[in-house]
Amino acid sequence: MKTKLCTKCGEEKSLEEFHRCKSNKDGRYSNCKICKNAKNKARRADPDYRERENAKNREYQSNPDYRERENAKQRVRYANDPDYRERENAKNKAHRADPDYRERENANRRAHRADLDYRERENANRRAQRHRKKGEKTAFMLMKAADILKNKFKKGNDDGKRTK
Ligand SMILES: [Zn+2]
Repeated sequence: MKTKLCTKCGEEKSLEEFHRCKSNKDGRYSNCKICKNAKNKARRADPDYRERENAKNREYQSNPDYRERENAKQRVRYANDPDYRERENAKNKAHRADPDYRERENANRRAHRADLDYRERENANRRAQRHRKKGEKTAFMLMKAADILKNKFKKGNDDGKRTK
């Protein structure tokens, strides 16, 4: 059994007791799961850390490229994963039925409307989205056309076999 010394508590433990970490040579963190979890918990309780993390997330989320990537990922998942679709639909339904949520969303929208930068970004996003939708529609139609041709071809072959 492979073991490793935890650099925090100094105990020798089996590799399974260390979280996986791709960037480390042996593929595991240098702190054992117990130490690592304790550290994460302490970090999350630290208001400075939380504030830094939140600021980082806000920056990410306001980046149109990032949002576009995330949205694209979600669209693919929505189209291919029925469980996910089901969950998302249920979530949206619950949200729509929740007056608090609606109130928050409306407040958000009001605040955003007052923010010129935000409006400019949103307009640019919408423009990009329109372009993309057009592209998706074309791709879809091409795919459909290819399918029809393929079926015709196949049918023709089957007919040919039958008459022989
Ligand atoms: Zn440890």
